[in-house]
Amino acid sequence: MPLDERPTVYSTEPDFEKRCPRCGRYPCRCPKPKSLPPQQQTAAISRDRKGRGGKTVTVIRDLQLSPEDLQALARQLKQHCGSGGTVKDGDIEIQGDHRDKVAARLRALGYKTKLVGG
Ligand SMILES: [Zn+2]
Repeated sequence: MPLDERPTVYSTEPDFEKRCPRCGRYPCRCPKPKSLPPQQQTAAISRDRKGRGGKTVTVIRDLQLSPEDLQALARQLKQHCGSGGTVKDGDIEIQGDHRDKVAARLRALGYKTKLVGG
């Protein structure tokens, strides 16, 4: 069709901001990631500071887990560290600096771990 008759497919849609950057849809329609066995995974563990308060969080990245397994693992780590935490964009965040505890727990579960950053 002529250029000026094309429907506008972006920016006017209310959900545009929420669209998945990978598949461009909202809700996301990407294929759900499947979990790999822990033995085939290396978790990257780092410390980060969040927000205005500068609270320290321990961030666990590079895990190939389904959303359910990721939540379950986050729950275990929170329990193990006696701390709060959350799952965000496929990463696990645990409040406080618990890198050693997190690494020990992940290794006990069969994961390989590496500490990254400061
Ligand atoms: Zn998607």
